Amino acid sequence: LLERERRNYEARLPRSRAAYDSAGSLLGRVPMTWMNKAAGRFPAYLDEARGARVRDIDGFEYVDFCLGDTGAMAGHSPEPVMRAVRNRLGFTAMLPSEDAEWVGAELTRRFKVGLWSFSLTATDANRWAIRLARQITRRPKILVFNYCYHGTVDETVVTLGPDGTLPRPGNVGPPVDPAETTRVVEFNDLEALERELSHGDVACVLMEPALTNIGIVLPAPGFLPAVRELTRRHGTLLINDETHTFSAGPGGCTRAWDLDPDIVTIGKAIAGGVPIGAYGVTREVADRILAEEGADLVDVGGVGGTLAGNALSIAAARATLEEVLTDDAFAYMTTLASRFTGGVAKAIEGLPWSITQLGARTEYRFGTPANGGESAALSDDDLDDYFHLFMHNRGVLMTPFHNMALMCPSTTTEDVDLHTELFTAAVRELTG
Ligand code: PLP
Repeated sequence: LLERERRNYEARLPRSRAAYDSAGSLLGRVPMTWMNKAAGRFPAYLDEARGARVRDIDGFEYVDFCLGDTGAMAGHSPEPVMRAVRNRLGFTAMLPSEDAEWVGAELTRRFKVGLWSFSLTATDANRWAIRLARQITRRPKILVFNYCYHGTVDETVVTLGPDGTLPRPGNVGPPVDPAETTRVVEFNDLEALERELSHGDVACVLMEPALTNIGIVLPAPGFLPAVRELTRRHGTLLINDETHTFSAGPGGCTRAWDLDPDIVTIGKAIAGGVPIGAYGVTREVADRILAEEGADLVDVGGVGGTLAGNALSIAAARATLEEVLTDDAFAYMTTLASRFTGGVAKAIEGLPWSITQLGARTEYRFGTPANGGESAALSDDDLDDYFHLFMHNRGVLMTPFHNMALMCPSTTTEDVDLHTELFTAAVRELTG
C-alpha cells in the first residue's frame, strides 16, 4: 500500500520533482526538504496559500492541517493582517509605537506575565529569556526535557544519554560540551527533575507545558504544579515556551491550566504569518533584572535586535490578536479539533492506537499515549509514511514529521469531515 501511495505521489507532482531536482543553489533547501520526507525524494512545492488552503505548483489544492507547523495557526494571509501591514511594509524605525503597547497589554491579558519584549523568532525569544535567567540567578546551566524542541538555541539541541547530557544527533555545531550548559530529564519524571535541580546550578527550566514536537505528550496529573514548586524551592526560574502550546487556548496552557511561570516565550502564529517572537516576564523578574543591572529596563543589553519589534511585525501581531486568533476563534477551532478527535477515535476503536488533543491541535499515534519523550519517539515510519501519503494524494496536508492536525479560523466542518473520512478509509484499507 505504501508503494502504491509513493507511486501516486510521484506521478502527480512532476513539476515539484523537476524543481527539486534542478535546484542546486540552496544549502539544504530549508525548510522544504523535510516536507513530505515520506515520499522519499522530493517535497511538493507550494505557490499559493489562503486561509486553510494551499496549492502546489502542479495545480493540486490541499486542506492544510500542517499550517506551517503552527506558523499559520491564524490561517494563511488572514485579511485583517493583510490590511494592517499594508502601510507598514518597509517601516523600520527602532522606535516604540502605540501598537506595541497594545500587543504587550494583550499578551499580558492572555499569558498573565506583565512585561513583554519582542524578537523575530521564537528561537530568539528563548535565547534572550535564557540570558535574562542566567543574569538574574548568576547560574550557568539550564534544564530542558528530553525530546523537547525550543528552536535552534545552542543549549537546547541536546539529548538525554545514559550518563547525562549529550549533543542531539544530527545537529550541526552543538555547544562544545552540552554537559557544561544543560541538564536534561524526561518529561513527567519528577524524581529526576528534583535530583538535577538540587545541584543548585540551574538558572531556568525551559519547558513546553505539554511536549508537542514528538507528538503531544500531556503532563501527568500534578506534574506541572510540582515543577513550579520544585523550581521555586531550588531558586530556578520557570520559562513556559508557548510557541506550540498556544493551541490550548487564547492564553496557551498558561491560562488554560492556570500556570504560574516566571517567563513566557512565544512566536510563530501570533503575527499571522509575519515573523515575530515575544518574551514576557513577571514584574518580580523585571525587578530582579533592575536590581542586578541597576539600570533602566530599556538599557539592558545582550538581548534584543535591530528588527525586533519592527512596525510590520507589531502591526501584524495586533491585527492577529485583535481580529483573528480571538477568544471566539479559539473556541471554534477547539470544537473542530474535538470533532476530528471523536472521528479518529471511532476509526481506531479496538486498535492499539491513540489520538491526543491540545485545544486546536490533535496528534494521532500508532501506539498508546506517550508519557515521556522516550516513549513518544517510538514510531513506525512506514505506517506514518503511508498515512501521510494517503492524505496528501487525496488533498489533505499534514505535518510531515509527525501526525499533527491543527485547526485555524478558516478550517471548516467539511474540511474536518474530509480528513476524518480519509483517515477512516486508510485504516479500513490497512486492517481489512
Ligand atoms: N519553541 C517551540 C516549542 C517550537 O516548537 C519551535 C519551533 O518549532 C520554536 C520554539 C522555534 O520557533 P522558530 O523556529 O520560529 O524560531
